[in-house]
Amino acid sequence: MLPVIALVGRPNVGKSTLFNRLTNTRDALVADYPGLTRDRKYGQAKYQGWQFILIDTGGISGDEQGIDAEMASQSLMAVDEADVVLFLVDARAGLTAADEGIAKHLRMQGKKTLLVANKVDGIDGDSASAEFYSLGLGKVYQIAASHGRGISQLVETVLEPMAEQFPEVHIPEKVKRDEEDAEKELERLQSLPIKLAIVGKPNVGKSTLTNRILGEERVVVYDMPGTTRDSIYIPMQREDQDYILIDTAGVRKKGKINDAVEKFSVIKTLQAIEEANVVLLVIDAREGISDQDLSLLGFILNAGRALVLAVNKWDGLDIKVKDDIKRELDFRLGFIDFARLHFISALHGTGVGHLYESVQEAYQSATKRVNTSMLTRIMELAQDDHKPPLVRGRRVKMKYAHAGGYNPPRIVVHGNQVEDLPDSYKRYLMNYFRKSLKIMGTPIKIEFKGSA
Ligand code: GDP
Ligand code: GDP
Repeated sequence: MLPVIALVGRPNVGKSTLFNRLTNTRDALVADYPGLTRDRKYGQAKYQGWQFILIDTGGISGDEQGIDAEMASQSLMAVDEADVVLFLVDARAGLTAADEGIAKHLRMQGKKTLLVANKVDGIDGDSASAEFYSLGLGKVYQIAASHGRGISQLVETVLEPMAEQFPEVHIPEKVKRDEEDAEKELERLQSLPIKLAIVGKPNVGKSTLTNRILGEERVVVYDMPGTTRDSIYIPMQREDQDYILIDTAGVRKKGKINDAVEKFSVIKTLQAIEEANVVLLVIDAREGISDQDLSLLGFILNAGRALVLAVNKWDGLDIKVKDDIKRELDFRLGFIDFARLHFISALHGTGVGHLYESVQEAYQSATKRVNTSMLTRIMELAQDDHKPPLVRGRRVKMKYAHAGGYNPPRIVVHGNQVEDLPDSYKRYLMNYFRKSLKIMGTPIKIEFKGSA
């Protein structure tokens, strides 16, 4: 579980700039709540070892009426989903009536809120910030989002107190894991059920698929206590393998809630991906690949999760349409060459049984035990087949490789100047490891460590 931070403020104060700096922009997910919000953006932030989920609420001017008021209240709903709110104001523009309007709302909502004055670059931050104290939100944090100033301190201030509640909020970037740690990690993984998350944009057939899967198995279903943004965890067994199905579609709540906002929650989806060992991404054959599908895919790859792709609603399509769809999938998903692709009909059950084979394969690959001598031998073979290039006139020499962790498999390569290997060579090496180890269904991460 990662903490959730919402960015709130009137238009033009620099929310997007800050959002983009803290997240990988291409991973921004736009909430698909037709008619409700146009521009609520979700992103997974990884900043100097801190990890959290960020929501850009879009603009609130603070004096909306009619439809604008509706939009603004939707934006403020995002505040509800958040653990902390960053309320941005513009240090150059000074205090405005809109800021006061928003501050009033935020005080009423009673959520932990930090007041942040942006654009303090090239001006006297202290005197520009002074007037914002009248908003009654305490200390004014000064940043320049476009210059990256004050941000690490802000992030630390916000997240440090949350480390106890969210143990994963801070992972040092250079985690030095030796083989023993990796081995412990593997043993821990193998003692647990496979956590399988079924994710996809609204209406692709997640609930239908989950029901289909559950209908076929004898399962004990229970709801873990949690808030509405938590997924439901459903333990189940198949062929002696324990699974926990992470249900983002809210199957068990269906009927009770037919509200799109409740049903599809981006945060629920992101948390489920973080928690899962294997992600089953469901795509709608009839809609083709959407940007939303690609964003979800981006998250899954970023999180390093094992992945199985299911193209659903494969029933009742004529052969020509099927060919067209396959061609499009090839074209747009060609870049993920490691994941198995299934064509299924959740409605009729066709192909659903075979999903487990790929889930198993992906999980086995993600947790396949490897040792130093094996990895080093493969690395040497790769090096013999294709010599690393010269870097600054010296030949890079890889010396040994060991396991750094599992799910995803992490391989640590040591040697002279190995960090300077070009990306093309790193990719070559990764593919060499993938083929030699017969790893399918999971990304592989390779770390390079220079040594004397
Ligand atoms: P949003 O509409 O609130 O999301 O604001 P944007 O992120 O789009 O920023 C509005 C404008 O302010 C853009 O022209 C940004 O380049 C500019 N801006 C954002 N952050 C800073 C900053 O730290 N300093 C300065 N000088 N300009 C900034
Ligand atoms: P969710 O929002 O992803 O949970 O999607 P649902 O499971 O609620 O399905 C959305 C709609 O697609 C419903 O009308 C389902 O009956 C329909 N649907 C789901 N799976 C299939 C399928 O395999 N084939 C067809 N033709 N329709 C499907």
